[in-house]
Amino acid sequence: MKKNIALIAHDNLKPAMVEWARAHQTALGSSHLFATGTTGSLIETEVGLSITKFKSGPLGGDQQIGAGIAEGKIDMVIFFWDPLQPHSHDVDVKALLRIAVVYNIPMACNLATANMMVASL
Ligand code: PGA
Repeated sequence: MKKNIALIAHDNLKPAMVEWARAHQTALGSSHLFATGTTGSLIETEVGLSITKFKSGPLGGDQQIGAGIAEGKIDMVIFFWDPLQPHSHDVDVKALLRIAVVYNIPMACNLATANMMVASL
């Protein structure tokens, strides 16, 4: 069954996310992809994968993904968050991490875990 995968990358990690998506294009292409606005647009343009885009993270995109988890519409999350920079929407990030744990959703927060999760698809 196709998995519904949400992708998010903070600005400093967007190049890493694009590279990762390119490397796993085949596996990702047979999943339903969702993303925060800027991350999704970049992956669509650079990699050519088709993505359902939410609002940009700072404008509520992280919360939309959290809502998707609560509604059972997201099966896994790949979230390249930046541990070296404060963000205006840090509270939204924390809420997303929390709701993923509440609903026992696999969530990768770094490249190593993302690679393990995509290998399991
Ligand atoms: P963006 O949002 O993909 O719209 O940049 C990511 C984030 O900062 O949460």
